[in-house]
Amino acid sequence: MATKLDPHHLVALMCYTFKDNQDSSPRRLDPSLHSLQGGIVDSHETNVRTFRILDALAHISVSRKESQVVAIGLQLNSRKQEIRLTVAENEKVTDGLVNHLTKIWRKLQVLSVEYEKNRGGRWDKSELRSPEMPKKVGRSLKMGIFRDIYQYSLEKQMRRIDKWSKGLRRFMKELLKRRVFLHLQGFELSLYKAVVALLLAVEVVSKLHDNPKDQLTESEWELAYSQSILANKHVKIVLADRKESGCEILAQELGDHLSQDPFQLRRALEKLTSLSRHIETLFGFAHSPRLRPALRYRLFTSAVPKKAHTVELPTSPEEWKSFLEVACDKHYDFQETHAVELAESFGSSKWVCPVHCECGLIQYLHAKQGNQWDYVPPFSYIGVSKLSCSACRIWIETFNEQSGRRFYTRCSHGKWYWPWGIPRTEGPLVGVMARKVLDEYLAYLESHKLLRSNLESSCGSSDGASHGLSDDDEKDAEAVGAAIVQDRGGGGLGFFDDK
Ligand SMILES: [Zn+2]
Repeated sequence: MATKLDPHHLVALMCYTFKDNQDSSPRRLDPSLHSLQGGIVDSHETNVRTFRILDALAHISVSRKESQVVAIGLQLNSRKQEIRLTVAENEKVTDGLVNHLTKIWRKLQVLSVEYEKNRGGRWDKSELRSPEMPKKVGRSLKMGIFRDIYQYSLEKQMRRIDKWSKGLRRFMKELLKRRVFLHLQGFELSLYKAVVALLLAVEVVSKLHDNPKDQLTESEWELAYSQSILANKHVKIVLADRKESGCEILAQELGDHLSQDPFQLRRALEKLTSLSRHIETLFGFAHSPRLRPALRYRLFTSAVPKKAHTVELPTSPEEWKSFLEVACDKHYDFQETHAVELAESFGSSKWVCPVHCECGLIQYLHAKQGNQWDYVPPFSYIGVSKLSCSACRIWIETFNEQSGRRFYTRCSHGKWYWPWGIPRTEGPLVGVMARKVLDEYLAYLESHKLLRSNLESSCGSSDGASHGLSDDDEKDAEAVGAAIVQDRGGGGLGFFDDK
């Protein structure tokens, strides 16, 4: 069932309702539950592996310090041996980004050829894994790719370093003060090795912090590369320790000792290695004989034009109040205060609401663009540099139900963002999506018992009370019940005796 309420107003309302908190529905994609369309090869398992590659491509596309999110879609025309990457951003996609992706793709193609040469046909498709290869193969190519990606994403990477490296240093110092250094073992030894490698790489690239135009020497890049890849290996072990709880246990121990909140060790390690982990994923892509067709085909790229709507929200507490009454289908006391707060937090200005990249990309791939790619089914999975927000999660879910197509991103982080713009403001999807948002709003109110306050006087509430007795019948029924209870004696208590 649809609603006529504007989905933008509802998303703003959800944003106010959840503020910076997650709603109850962050969802991780379980690929085993879905069939995929348009993958690189005719194998579900292999196509699931390409999720990480698309996410990696989206991740290395981010260069700006903040608020840049990128989504990437894939199409493959195996008959013509052509492949297309379609890139979308919340803002405009720059030529620089398209050129960067094209350049990295070309270098991955060269690396893939190098691997193929070294395999020398020693792989048949029945083998699950491709044969081990001396680690030296393609080393200088890999270092070149690492350097190109690092330089492009330098500003963003410096931001991660600024945010997390100092805390990580302090944490390690505290740990070492409490342990006999030479006796570190197991998890803590891996952590130690990970942090040393990580900080060494950080130290080298930090030379570019204030002077990004400066050049690092070949041997400095060599050091940054090898330490980053080494850090990846140890960090992986550390993050997985004790069913992914090792970091939290240690951080809690040190936090308790210092009477501080535990340091976000896992997050620090994840953030500081994110770029090099994604780079390694791309190396894996070039190494895979199964995915080789993708890197043999001719590459096309497209950019989704930036799209945004101007939205006018209710401006006064009165307007918000009547909006809330329509949304809840009646008046409740809590709406008075919520309406005042809503008017205060959103103010009276018009809002420019960008269409988030994953939704814009899906809409673009779905609509006819008047070229040969209109007839090539896009791959069901959309790579994203950041988890989807709740509004995008609901929009994609609605799109999938309505269009007969299927698109997925890896997960929603369960947060609501404002401003948020719907990809198309007309068509049946708008009302259906709005209804889903409204249902989540009502479920929230219900779970916080806000819809109960004037339930008794209600005859039209949404929980089915309208099917109850009329007021007179209700009084009669209560009177009959009371009489029976009295009859059983003991001032009514006898009614509850065991029979
Ligand atoms: Zn979003």
